[in-house]
Amino acid sequence: MTATIIDGKAVAARLRAEVAEEVKKMVAEHGVRPGLAAVLVGENPASHTYVRMKRKACDEVGIDSYGYELPENASQEEVEELVRKLNADPKVNGILVQLPLPSHLNEEAILAAIDIEKDVDGFHPINIGRLAMKGREPLFVPATPKGVIYLLEEAGAQFEGANAVVLGRSNIVGMPTALLLVHKNSTVTIVHSRTRDIPSVTREADILVAAVGRPKMVKGDWVKPGAIVIDVGVNRVDDPTAKKGYRLVGDVDFDEVKEVAGALTPVPGGVGPMTIAMLLKNTLRAAQIALAKK
Ligand code: NAP
Repeated sequence: MTATIIDGKAVAARLRAEVAEEVKKMVAEHGVRPGLAAVLVGENPASHTYVRMKRKACDEVGIDSYGYELPENASQEEVEELVRKLNADPKVNGILVQLPLPSHLNEEAILAAIDIEKDVDGFHPINIGRLAMKGREPLFVPATPKGVIYLLEEAGAQFEGANAVVLGRSNIVGMPTALLLVHKNSTVTIVHSRTRDIPSVTREADILVAAVGRPKMVKGDWVKPGAIVIDVGVNRVDDPTAKKGYRLVGDVDFDEVKEVAGALTPVPGGVGPMTIAMLLKNTLRAAQIALAKK
């Protein structure tokens, strides 16, 4: 069997075009444009790159973006004060605080300071808490997990009663993805670093999501024939033949798994582009919520 390759880039492009269309309508009908504030603390080069990519994507769909940079040694109070200022700013519909924060800062308190109606990253404890509860709906769901579910839907996943296995239990990917799958009525197993005999668990999965940050960990014989496999991992591996000296690979051994799975996302070009598309969708939704309250 050769898996269908799920083209996250194409799906994300379609979503971005839809957001651009909605933004245009909002401007024409209400004279307002969604706005996203990106807060960056410190000098982490990857964080700078991510924020640049997110702001560029906003620009392309007509969302205003505002960048706020604080020094590495910014105090807890300074960051929270900035968040409070953005909460009160009507031009700002969504606030994203780029993670990770420098280690002296209390991430939980900073995320909790964000107005939940502007929490477009979906990391506010109330939004995450609602995701964990039956019958409650968060206002926003974190972008990467939301992108994972969207790609599973695109691939025709039958969630109800399916065995879903999520590799990884981080706050930003693994755990919210597992919770979303529970909402979808899948039977969910979460695998982490203390799990015994991981291949025997993954082999039972109709839906397999890998978010561990270990290059090519998931092998062909870990996968049930016909399973839908979503690879969230982004890992740099040395490659002297590549221009930059490295290339990006996922947590899934693509060449092996494509011979077994029913559908599979590539890296790059799978989940990555979906993350930004979902952030744009969340920001549009925040602007729609603000408009409805006027
Ligand atoms: P993380 O915070 O480091 O969490 C990794 C998780 O994997 C942890 O729960 C850890 O278990 C588990 N784990 C690590 N090694 C393992 C092993 N050998 N066996 C079983 N479980 C293991 O990582 P993350 O932030 O969730 O990111 C995961 C991957 O996704 C990374 O490659 C990251 O670059 C990528 N990512 C991609 C996007 C995107 O947009 N495409 C967005 C975010 C992240 P413990 O909890 O027991 O430590």
